[in-house]
Amino acid sequence: MIESKILAGERITTGEAVALIENESLSTLGLMADLVRRRMHQDGVVTYIIDRNVNYTNVCNAFCSFCAFYRPPHHEEGYVLPVEVIEKKIAETYELGGNQILLQGGHNPKLKIDYYEDLFRRLKQRFPDLWLHALSAPEIVHIHKVSRISIAETLRRLRAAGLDSLPGGGAEILVDDVRKRLMKNKASGSEWIEVHEEAHRTGLRSTATMMFGHIESRAERIEHLRMLRDLQDRTHGFTAFIGWTFQPGNTELGGREATTAEYLRTMAVARIFLDNVPNIQASWVTQGPKVGAASLAFGVNDMGSTMIEENVVSSAGTVHHMNEPEIVAAVKDAGFVPMRRNMLYERLGAPLHA
Ligand code: SF4
Repeated sequence: MIESKILAGERITTGEAVALIENESLSTLGLMADLVRRRMHQDGVVTYIIDRNVNYTNVCNAFCSFCAFYRPPHHEEGYVLPVEVIEKKIAETYELGGNQILLQGGHNPKLKIDYYEDLFRRLKQRFPDLWLHALSAPEIVHIHKVSRISIAETLRRLRAAGLDSLPGGGAEILVDDVRKRLMKNKASGSEWIEVHEEAHRTGLRSTATMMFGHIESRAERIEHLRMLRDLQDRTHGFTAFIGWTFQPGNTELGGREATTAEYLRTMAVARIFLDNVPNIQASWVTQGPKVGAASLAFGVNDMGSTMIEENVVSSAGTVHHMNEPEIVAAVKDAGFVPMRRNMLYERLGAPLHA
């Protein structure tokens, strides 16, 4: 019954998605997710983007138990990157053929809206065609609170200063029962949705994410996906969905990482369930290049970023690197055609460095 709905291109319900993720074999999930991916991306292209993560501060007062990256306020290892350092990182990205940075950081109580406005304006002045994919929804909520302005005003001012799109970070699992057990002082699930909905309404595009394999149930993963799908029905503002597994190293939460099978199972169900989200991105940064490439047979159609720099996952002891030639080789080995893209998933052409 569920299979025939998927074959016919019909939407599946949350109950059916729970049944799939709980009971279906991994191989059947892969076949169905691959069918859906082929229907949505018929030319066999797998995209990727040349960009860089820049973590402007690691000072944070959200105290997420799954995070190995942050330092509390006043900690001796806390930092705020000087703007010259950020500019140097951007210049290096341009040298490799990219013009986007993914700028994210902790909830630093000292940084209010004027810090971001000044930073964005300066970066755009120095790099006029820079694409600022910046600030997760919980950072937006934090800035709105410390600056005492509304979320809409926060987004409007940041956009006027140069913000181009929002990354989907900070979603983890949007179900508040889960969030309350994982973090002390971070945006709720409905606040995360509110920020993205407001951003979409003002014309900003964003991505959606899910970090799973910690304390949540599989049904709670599906509830998270339902919240994303419902928002996407209202706004169509998400360009992509990215899922990754919790990295327990050096974290207060600890525990064991989800298996490769669990990652692939979840990504396949996400591809099937999120019928209104055009792109599904691999997370080779957490899973490693081989699993990242294998995920292309489980509904994934994008290899994400060349990730010239990564600080958050590596803080948990997980270190995987792939440069552009390695991504290109992995995509070709899997039987697809690699192509560069931008944040909007507009294709930019063949690889620069193959
Ligand atoms: S995940 Fe983000 S919000 Fe949570 S502690 Fe780490 S830096 Fe802060």
